[in-house]
Amino acid sequence: MTAGSSISELLNWAYQQLSAGESPKTDARFILAHCMGQSTTYLMTWPDKIVDEDIQSHFQKLVTKRKIGHPVAHLIGTRDFWTLSLEVSPDTLIPRPETELLVEQALHLPIDQTAKVLDLGTGTGAIALSLAQEKPDWQVTGVDVIESAVALAKRNGIANLLPDVEFLQSSWFDNLNARTFDLIVSNPPYVESDSHYLLEGDVRFEPASALTSGKDGLDDIKIIIEQSLKHLESGGWLMIEHGYNQSEDLAKLFMQYQYTHIFHKKDLNDQPRISAAQKP
Ligand code: GLN
Repeated sequence: MTAGSSISELLNWAYQQLSAGESPKTDARFILAHCMGQSTTYLMTWPDKIVDEDIQSHFQKLVTKRKIGHPVAHLIGTRDFWTLSLEVSPDTLIPRPETELLVEQALHLPIDQTAKVLDLGTGTGAIALSLAQEKPDWQVTGVDVIESAVALAKRNGIANLLPDVEFLQSSWFDNLNARTFDLIVSNPPYVESDSHYLLEGDVRFEPASALTSGKDGLDDIKIIIEQSLKHLESGGWLMIEHGYNQSEDLAKLFMQYQYTHIFHKKDLNDQPRISAAQKP
């Protein structure tokens, strides 16, 4: 790349660099917009604008990192989720669009105006903050085992004008004493530990603790289903995101612990990815 290149020249260079990836054009545009402190619309509107040299060299460094697999969200430091813009870090899972299905379904549950809600393994705070955004009268708490994730979620609450969401460090329920909730939601780790999926693409740069959970991926889900019984009000709901092939296992676990009104919801690929049930 020569010095004094235009926006369109830089983008064309990056499309070439990233052509083996899944989304070279959107990746390149997001990265350049971030480096320039502008929107992607700006890039499309001013393709002939010459880019400052320091911005250009920063852009080239980030594109090179993207080429070896670093997720765009890590390179630009943020990811949009629901109506929020969330800071991300390599300490947590990058919020996924499919988790918006969980938020949407949780909002449809028949739950009180002033419910107490818990998000287990909150990471960036994505689920907790989205629910709080939609239901200002819910008292929402998010917990995460990783201290730096708790700090990140708190920053995201403040940045998204949701400072009342409570974030605590806790391994599942360990630091919650006898607290009870009307709704418990979770996107726990659920990928099988020997899955090939973990060796490819962006997930290689995300923490294994947020992705895998034993041979069948169900270790943490089992703990959550068992221990939620002690922390749900009678009539309270538990809703969990899981892998496309795990809904029958979740149904069995819910039945084993005497939950009722078990149901599953499918994602846009027609796969069951959310399961929920009620404590009688
Ligand atoms: N849905 C995630 C993925 O496909 C997995 C996240 C998780 O284990 N909670 O990468």
